[in-house]
Amino acid sequence: MWNGRKPVISSGWGSPRKHGPHRGADIMFKREKGDPFPDRTPNGSKWHVMPDDVVAVAASDGIVWSAGWTSGGFAVVIDHGPQKVATFYTHMSTVLGAPTDRAKSGQRVYAGQPIGIIDFDPRDGQRLKHLHFELWLGGPKDAVDVAPIIKSWEYIKDPRPTSSPPPKTMTAPGPMVARNASLQYRSIGERGENYPDWVRALDGKSGVYVIREIDANGTPEVVYVGSSQGRLYDTLTRHFQIVRHEAQEAPMT
Ligand SMILES: [Zn+2]
Repeated sequence: MWNGRKPVISSGWGSPRKHGPHRGADIMFKREKGDPFPDRTPNGSKWHVMPDDVVAVAASDGIVWSAGWTSGGFAVVIDHGPQKVATFYTHMSTVLGAPTDRAKSGQRVYAGQPIGIIDFDPRDGQRLKHLHFELWLGGPKDAVDVAPIIKSWEYIKDPRPTSSPPPKTMTAPGPMVARNASLQYRSIGERGENYPDWVRALDGKSGVYVIREIDANGTPEVVYVGSSQGRLYDTLTRHFQIVRHEAQEAPMT
């Protein structure tokens, strides 16, 4: 919902496209008199509008099957198993969750959980903001028309707190062991285990912190890694990897 307005399908199943008929639904808001968004701009077409910073939310509970950059923008696929049902969301400017592939992150999402910020298809000259949504009864080849299903949807308000800016990244899943206002620390696992995916995802990212623990031999060993936005700690991440390698010969793969 945006300003009490329900999203609608601005371009539906089967509409002609360069590479054959449209296999999903483009989602925007119906233009109303007085809307500040001119036609042929990123925020508006003749009949529809899409303001900046509108969140895409998960259509139903599920597990994030994939989340990351594609040629069509940031995209998310949610697996709604055990039924063979998945939903696909694309043309987003960011993913509000850990990037993942083939459900490696195991990240669960609930119906209505924000999963990304709606943007435009980078291949579109007008850069018209809209969410491209697909429903798959199996894989991408099994896309079906969502129009009949959308009618029965429940519409929700933007679930983000209004006072805070949208998160640029969200923490990946993992047991949280300590927390304060600015830092979050999670266990990186036991000796001999491979690093969890969320640690791998931090590789090269900014704002990474570590906690060291002195072991029985007096050797400092990294036990926790945390991240916080706004400061560059790439070198610490690398350092952490080196320490861990030396400490237990469990190389990152
Ligand atoms: Zn589309």
